[in-house]
Amino acid sequence: MQTLDEILKVSASRHTHLCPRQVLGARIGLAGASALGMELPRRDKRLLVILETDGCFADGIEAATACTVGHRTLRIEDYGKTAATFVDTLTEQTIRISPRNNARELAWEYAPSARNKWESQLIGYQHIPDELLFHCQWVELTVSVKQIIGQPGKRVMCEACGEEIINQREVMHEGTTLCRACAGYSYYLQASSEISIKSQTN
Ligand SMILES: [Zn+2]
Ligand SMILES: [Zn+2]
Repeated sequence: MQTLDEILKVSASRHTHLCPRQVLGARIGLAGASALGMELPRRDKRLLVILETDGCFADGIEAATACTVGHRTLRIEDYGKTAATFVDTLTEQTIRISPRNNARELAWEYAPSARNKWESQLIGYQHIPDELLFHCQWVELTVSVKQIIGQPGKRVMCEACGEEIINQREVMHEGTTLCRACAGYSYYLQASSEISIKSQTN
Protein backbone atom coordinates (compact mmCIF):
# COMPACT_ATOMS: atom_id res chain seq x y z
CA MET A 1 0.00 0.00 0.00
CA GLN A 2 1.42 3.36 -1.01
CA THR A 3 1.15 6.39 1.27
CA LEU A 4 -0.64 9.52 0.09
CA ASP A 5 2.75 11.24 -0.18
CA GLU A 6 4.07 8.52 -2.47
CA ILE A 7 0.95 8.65 -4.61
CA LEU A 8 1.16 12.43 -4.92
CA LYS A 9 4.80 12.19 -5.96
CA VAL A 10 3.89 9.84 -8.79
CA SER A 11 0.93 11.99 -9.81
CA ALA A 12 2.97 15.21 -9.76
CA SER A 13 5.77 13.74 -11.84
CA ARG A 14 3.30 12.75 -14.57
CA HIS A 15 1.49 16.07 -14.34
CA THR A 16 4.71 18.20 -14.08
CA HIS A 17 3.50 19.76 -10.78
CA LEU A 18 1.12 19.06 -7.92
CA CYS A 19 -2.28 20.77 -7.77
CA PRO A 20 -5.37 20.50 -5.50
CA ARG A 21 -7.42 18.42 -7.92
CA GLN A 22 -4.74 15.74 -8.08
CA VAL A 23 -4.89 15.56 -4.30
CA LEU A 24 -8.67 15.20 -4.44
CA GLY A 25 -8.32 12.47 -7.06
CA ALA A 26 -5.75 10.59 -5.01
CA ARG A 27 -7.88 10.85 -1.85
CA ILE A 28 -11.05 9.74 -3.67
CA GLY A 29 -9.14 6.84 -5.22
CA LEU A 30 -7.97 5.66 -1.79
CA ALA A 31 -11.41 6.15 -0.23
CA GLY A 32 -13.22 4.30 -3.03
CA ALA A 33 -10.99 1.25 -2.87
CA SER A 34 -11.09 1.15 0.90
CA ALA A 35 -14.92 1.36 0.93
CA LEU A 36 -14.97 -1.70 -1.33
CA GLY A 37 -12.37 -3.43 0.83
CA MET A 38 -9.91 -3.58 -2.04
CA GLU A 39 -6.17 -3.10 -1.83
CA LEU A 40 -4.31 -0.57 -3.94
CA PRO A 41 -2.56 -0.28 -6.30
CA ARG A 42 -4.45 -2.79 -8.48
CA ARG A 43 -2.46 -4.98 -10.81
CA ASP A 44 -5.54 -6.97 -11.84
CA LYS A 45 -8.74 -5.85 -13.54
CA ARG A 46 -11.07 -6.29 -10.58
CA LEU A 47 -11.53 -2.58 -9.88
CA LEU A 48 -13.25 -0.45 -12.50
CA VAL A 49 -13.22 3.31 -11.96
CA ILE A 50 -15.60 5.62 -13.79
CA LEU A 51 -14.60 9.27 -13.59
CA GLU A 52 -16.95 12.17 -14.18
CA THR A 53 -14.26 14.50 -15.52
CA ASP A 54 -10.85 14.40 -17.13
CA GLY A 55 -7.84 16.56 -16.19
CA CYS A 56 -5.79 16.81 -12.99
CA PHE A 57 -8.34 14.85 -10.95
CA ALA A 58 -7.90 11.87 -13.29
CA ASP A 59 -4.12 11.86 -12.80
CA GLY A 60 -4.57 11.67 -9.03
CA ILE A 61 -7.00 8.76 -9.29
CA GLU A 62 -4.76 6.93 -11.72
CA ALA A 63 -1.72 7.32 -9.47
CA ALA A 64 -3.66 6.04 -6.44
CA THR A 65 -5.44 3.09 -8.04
CA ALA A 66 -3.18 2.12 -10.97
CA CYS A 67 -6.40 1.84 -12.97
CA THR A 68 -5.78 3.20 -16.46
CA VAL A 69 -7.49 3.70 -19.79
CA GLY A 70 -4.86 1.39 -21.30
CA HIS A 71 -5.83 -1.44 -18.97
CA ARG A 72 -9.51 -0.72 -19.60
CA THR A 73 -10.00 -0.24 -15.87
CA LEU A 74 -10.58 3.52 -16.06
CA ARG A 75 -13.35 5.20 -18.02
CA ILE A 76 -14.62 8.74 -18.32
CA GLU A 77 -18.27 9.77 -18.40
CA ASP A 78 -17.68 13.48 -18.76
CA TYR A 79 -20.24 15.27 -16.60
CA GLY A 80 -17.73 17.95 -15.64
CA LYS A 81 -17.78 16.80 -12.01
CA THR A 82 -14.92 15.85 -9.74
CA ALA A 83 -16.68 12.64 -8.75
CA ALA A 84 -15.88 8.99 -9.33
CA THR A 85 -17.60 5.65 -9.13
CA PHE A 86 -15.76 2.52 -8.03
CA VAL A 87 -16.99 -0.86 -9.19
CA ASP A 88 -15.88 -4.19 -7.77
CA THR A 89 -16.37 -6.10 -11.00
CA LEU A 90 -16.48 -9.41 -9.11
CA THR A 91 -19.33 -8.55 -6.72
CA GLU A 92 -20.72 -5.59 -8.74
CA GLN A 93 -20.76 -3.54 -5.52
CA THR A 94 -20.53 0.07 -6.62
CA ILE A 95 -19.84 3.22 -4.67
CA ARG A 96 -19.89 6.84 -5.88
CA ILE A 97 -17.77 9.44 -4.14
CA SER A 98 -17.81 13.21 -4.58
CA PRO A 99 -16.30 16.06 -2.59
CA ARG A 100 -18.63 17.86 -0.19
CA ASN A 101 -19.72 21.34 -1.24
CA ASN A 102 -17.89 23.03 1.63
CA ALA A 103 -14.55 21.30 0.91
CA ARG A 104 -12.91 24.51 -0.34
CA GLU A 105 -13.80 26.48 2.79
CA LEU A 106 -13.00 23.57 5.07
CA ALA A 107 -9.52 23.31 3.52
CA TRP A 108 -8.48 26.54 5.30
CA GLU A 109 -9.03 24.89 8.69
CA TYR A 110 -6.59 22.14 7.79
CA ALA A 111 -4.00 24.49 6.29
CA PRO A 112 -3.96 27.50 8.62
CA SER A 113 -0.61 28.77 7.38
CA ALA A 114 -1.53 28.63 3.69
CA ARG A 115 -0.69 31.82 1.79
CA ASN A 116 -3.61 31.68 -0.62
CA LYS A 117 -6.73 29.73 -1.60
CA TRP A 118 -4.84 27.42 -3.94
CA GLU A 119 -2.32 26.50 -1.29
CA SER A 120 -5.04 26.00 1.33
CA GLN A 121 -6.70 23.47 -0.95
CA LEU A 122 -3.44 21.80 -1.91
CA ILE A 123 -2.53 21.23 1.74
CA GLY A 124 -6.01 21.07 3.27
CA TYR A 125 -7.21 18.32 0.91
CA GLN A 126 -4.35 16.15 2.15
CA HIS A 127 -5.53 16.39 5.76
CA ILE A 128 -9.33 16.71 5.91
CA PRO A 129 -10.72 13.38 7.19
CA ASP A 130 -12.61 11.30 4.60
CA GLU A 131 -15.98 11.71 6.32
CA LEU A 132 -15.73 15.52 6.21
CA LEU A 133 -14.22 15.71 2.74
CA PHE A 134 -16.43 13.29 0.84
CA HIS A 135 -19.97 12.33 0.19
CA CYS A 136 -20.23 8.55 -0.44
CA GLN A 137 -23.18 6.53 -1.59
CA TRP A 138 -23.84 3.03 -2.82
CA VAL A 139 -25.20 3.16 -6.33
CA GLU A 140 -26.37 0.74 -8.96
CA LEU A 141 -25.08 0.91 -12.50
CA THR A 142 -27.73 1.50 -15.16
CA VAL A 143 -25.69 -0.56 -17.61
CA SER A 144 -24.20 -3.88 -16.48
CA VAL A 145 -20.46 -4.23 -15.89
CA LYS A 146 -20.46 -6.82 -18.66
CA GLN A 147 -21.90 -4.32 -21.12
CA ILE A 148 -19.61 -1.51 -19.98
CA ILE A 149 -16.53 -3.63 -20.51
CA GLY A 150 -17.83 -5.47 -23.58
CA GLN A 151 -16.35 -8.71 -24.79
CA PRO A 152 -12.67 -8.27 -25.58
CA GLY A 153 -11.60 -10.10 -28.72
CA LYS A 154 -15.02 -9.72 -30.36
CA ARG A 155 -14.77 -8.03 -33.78
CA VAL A 156 -17.45 -7.10 -36.26
CA MET A 157 -17.55 -4.93 -39.37
CA CYS A 158 -19.77 -1.87 -39.74
CA GLU A 159 -22.03 -2.56 -42.70
CA ALA A 160 -22.10 1.12 -43.65
CA CYS A 161 -18.48 2.36 -43.43
CA GLY A 162 -16.67 -0.97 -43.39
CA GLU A 163 -14.56 -0.13 -40.35
CA GLU A 164 -13.92 -2.71 -37.68
CA ILE A 165 -15.66 -2.43 -34.29
CA ILE A 166 -14.20 -4.07 -31.18
CA ASN A 167 -15.44 -4.62 -27.61
CA GLN A 168 -19.08 -5.00 -28.72
CA ARG A 169 -19.58 -1.31 -29.40
CA GLU A 170 -21.73 -1.97 -32.50
CA VAL A 171 -25.33 -0.82 -32.78
CA MET A 172 -28.00 -2.99 -34.40
CA HIS A 173 -30.33 -1.00 -36.63
CA GLU A 174 -33.13 -2.82 -38.45
CA GLY A 175 -31.04 -5.96 -38.72
CA THR A 176 -27.91 -4.09 -39.82
CA THR A 177 -24.69 -3.93 -37.81
CA LEU A 178 -23.50 -0.33 -37.58
CA CYS A 179 -20.77 1.56 -35.77
CA ARG A 180 -21.96 4.35 -33.45
CA ALA A 181 -20.93 7.01 -35.99
CA CYS A 182 -22.95 5.49 -38.81
CA ALA A 183 -25.87 4.93 -36.44
CA GLY A 184 -26.06 8.70 -35.90
CA TYR A 185 -24.19 9.07 -32.59
CA SER A 186 -21.09 10.61 -34.14
CA TYR A 187 -18.99 13.33 -32.49
CA TYR A 188 -17.62 14.45 -35.91
CA LEU A 189 -18.84 15.30 -39.38
CA GLN A 190 -16.87 14.38 -42.45
CA ALA A 191 -15.48 17.59 -44.02
CA SER A 192 -13.49 16.18 -46.93
CA SER A 193 -12.89 12.98 -48.81
CA GLU A 194 -9.74 10.94 -48.22
CA ILE A 195 -6.54 12.98 -47.82
CA SER A 196 -3.03 11.59 -48.23
CA ILE A 197 -0.66 11.68 -45.26
CA LYS A 198 3.09 11.23 -45.52
CA SER A 199 4.76 8.55 -43.46
CA GLN A 200 6.82 9.99 -40.58
CA THR A 201 8.67 6.80 -39.77
CA ASN A 202 11.57 7.00 -42.25
ZN1 LIG B 1 -3.37 20.33 -12.30
ZN1 LIG C 1 -19.68 2.80 -39.65
